[in-house]
Amino acid sequence: MSTIFGKIIRREIPADIVYEDDRVVVFKDINPRARVHLLVIPKKEIASLFELTPEDKDLMGHMMLLLPQLAKAQGLNAGFRTQINTGEGGGQEVFHVHIHLLGN
Ligand code: 5GP
Repeated sequence: MSTIFGKIIRREIPADIVYEDDRVVVFKDINPRARVHLLVIPKKEIASLFELTPEDKDLMGHMMLLLPQLAKAQGLNAGFRTQINTGEGGGQEVFHVHIHLLGN
């Protein structure tokens, strides 16, 4: 089931996209909680970490390896925070896997 993030991937609604490749899109959170607040999402529509399968290993590894590169590109050389909310009990609001990347 597609979400608002699916619409961003398909360019059906606008977003401030800072990085894109064949597997991933990265854009600014619409309601930033820090100077830098990016959302790193896979193009594959996976609802949450609960729905990951072994075939997603490379994709998730790719996302993890991107984080420090994105942080440095945003000037976060001293460090950054990441967050993945999972399921309603974890405070997840958009059911498309995403990593929050935050820093000041
Ligand atoms: P969650 O609570 O699911 O981990 O976080 C969802 C995040 O998506 C929130 O930080 C929220 O501000 C952001 N968000 C929700 N809708 C949109 C949107 O349409 N565009 C952008 N850029 N961010 C959104």
